[in-house]
Amino acid sequence: MPTPGFGEASRRGASPEPPAPSRVEAVQPELAEYDSIRRREAVIVVMRSGSTLKETSHILKVIEKDGFKAHLSRGEDATIIGVIGDERKFDGANFATLPGVERVIPILKPFKLASRDFQPKDTVVRVDSVTIGAGRFTVMAGPCAVESLEQTIEIARSVKRAGAVILRGGAFKPRTSPYSFQGLGRKGLEILAAAKKETGLSIVTEVMSVEDVPLVAQYADILQIGARNMQNFNLLDACGRQSKPVLLKRGMMSTIEELLLSAEYILSRDNRNVILCERGIRTFEKYTRNTLDIAAVPVVKKLSHLPIIIDPSHAAGVRDYVPALAKASVAAGADGMIVEVHSHPDQALCDGQESLTPQEFDALMKDLRPIAEAVGRDAR
Ligand code: PEP
Ligand code: MN
Repeated sequence: MPTPGFGEASRRGASPEPPAPSRVEAVQPELAEYDSIRRREAVIVVMRSGSTLKETSHILKVIEKDGFKAHLSRGEDATIIGVIGDERKFDGANFATLPGVERVIPILKPFKLASRDFQPKDTVVRVDSVTIGAGRFTVMAGPCAVESLEQTIEIARSVKRAGAVILRGGAFKPRTSPYSFQGLGRKGLEILAAAKKETGLSIVTEVMSVEDVPLVAQYADILQIGARNMQNFNLLDACGRQSKPVLLKRGMMSTIEELLLSAEYILSRDNRNVILCERGIRTFEKYTRNTLDIAAVPVVKKLSHLPIIIDPSHAAGVRDYVPALAKASVAAGADGMIVEVHSHPDQALCDGQESLTPQEFDALMKDLRPIAEAVGRDAR
């Protein structure tokens, strides 16, 4: 068998290869040009202490007039303006000399809008009357999959009674096997809407494909992008171009940096309401479905202003271990959790083995409250 290499193309009928050195020369300038067209850069403009509102608003005007996007953060100690735009334009822009500016610092991290440098203050996502971020431990609970109207309403009522404020439930299910229950699709969304009408709970549900984004956005209060789709860049793009908040789950084989870069896709399409979710990553351990990376909570908190919640159900994969992981997530400083609850786990069409019964969920919620209080969070 011939070794694949430069000769391959000509054997397949493409034009004959030029000698190697000129090929390198011909390709390099083209690549460089392509890169500089696409590259975006970000800086933060730090205002002098004592700078005036007038100076700040003048700078915002200049930034926007020059074709950049600005994000103002007014802190107790300092006012900073995050600026993002085409790399080439920064050469001509001289923000440092504008009145009121102390210094201009480039953001060197690969993610810009998601970084805490760009926006020091925590993002607070608002859904109906619920907030995610802002010092609260927000609980989303419900079945893995929407199976029927009765099942969904029964679970919705019980999780609400126990203190959940958002109902979870998949209408479109990403299943490893094509023979497993794939979800009720549109019918599932209608059931979720009925459960919302009945209980007042807001809805989080997964969207799996770009074509379904408008449909799911019609019913969901939060669009969930599942672990398997964390790097589906077209889906990230489509969710970034609609206005509902997005729950972005970490891919089971993704780093925290990759998670934040996926969030950056959504943010850069102008949807600033992104909630991150740590749901366990794949390791060599077999007694749990995944390994909950609890360290992701403080790491994300340091690197980003986005809220982060934990999914103890898909992390553990076993009902018995879910409460301990949920408690750990509160203690670690997570902004909430998304947990699977089923009235009849033994009959569940999806993930019954990791679903809590309503009684177990109620007991867990009671156990979480003192932990939340101990770390200065309000658990609801
Ligand atoms: C889910 O939450 O329904 C789900 C499929 O989770 P994940 O994408 O984390 O596997
Ligand atoms: Mn599940």
